[in-house]
Amino acid sequence: MTASIIDGKIIAAELRGRVAAEVARVKAEHGVTPGLAVVLVGSDPASEVYVRSKHKQTQEAGMASFEHKLPADVAQADLIALVQKLNADPTVHGILVQLPLPKGLDTDAVVNAIDPAKDVDGLHPTNAGRLASGMPALSPCTPLGCIILTKNVHKSLEGMNAIVIGRSNLVGRPLVQLLLNENATVTIAHSKSRDLAKLCAQADLVYAAVGRPEMVRGDWIKPGATVIDVGINRLPGAEGKTRLVGDVAYQEALKTAGAITPVPGGVGQMTVACLLVNTLRAACAIHKLAAPAV
Ligand code: NAP
Repeated sequence: MTASIIDGKIIAAELRGRVAAEVARVKAEHGVTPGLAVVLVGSDPASEVYVRSKHKQTQEAGMASFEHKLPADVAQADLIALVQKLNADPTVHGILVQLPLPKGLDTDAVVNAIDPAKDVDGLHPTNAGRLASGMPALSPCTPLGCIILTKNVHKSLEGMNAIVIGRSNLVGRPLVQLLLNENATVTIAHSKSRDLAKLCAQADLVYAAVGRPEMVRGDWIKPGATVIDVGINRLPGAEGKTRLVGDVAYQEALKTAGAITPVPGGVGQMTVACLLVNTLRAACAIHKLAAPAV
């Protein structure tokens, strides 16, 4: 058996198309242009690539895109003052502060300063708490993308056994809540979990969000299971270049899984598309419009 490949590139492009159509409708019917402000502190090369890609995709979806670049040695108070200015700006519906922040800045204080209604990264404790309480919330983009990819394979996740490996605030924890909302039965694993292979073997849905290259082996996977690999790990490649691998041993897992996301070309593609979804949702909620059909 060879697993079918869940093509994040195609699924993300379809999602961006639906977002663009809804943005056009909201503009035409209500005169509202959803706006996303991205704040980049310092010049981390990976963060700069992400920010450029967010800017391009936001504009392509017909939204307003605002970029704010601050030096790595910006004072905490100045960064918070910018966030507060964006909170008060009626043309901005989504605020994303690119993480990680340079050393010396207090990430929690910055995230907590974002208006929860504009918190399109879903990291503010108000949104995390609402999500954990089963209330409507802006949820983090990568877990949202994971659910969309899974639902591309299974219309309903009700009653399925899922394992989420990793419990970060950015990925693992919110993913668990989203799976519960889908009525899946969820096991949460982390660095202190015992016998991961055995836990995985019971799962119809495997989510790996660990940050350890190819940690999940093919023989851990229940035959036919759906595998969503969140990990992005850079390893030395040929001719001094680097190559990306996930947290799952892809070639091995292909032989046992029913469906699997590649790295790259899987979850990573969905994250920015879901950021657009969140910005559109935030704009509609702020203007008291019906939730968009995306
Ligand atoms: P993180 O904050 O470092 O969290 C990693 C989690 O993995 C922790 O909960 C940790 O457990 C757990 N873990 C570490 N070693 C383990 C082991 N041996 N067995 C089981 N669990 C273990 O990382 P993250 O931000 O969630 O990111 C995870 C991966 O996803 C990274 O590769 C990152 O680059 C990638 N990522 C991708 C996207 C995307 O768009 N595709 C977005 C975000 C992140 P403890 O809690 O016990 O320490």
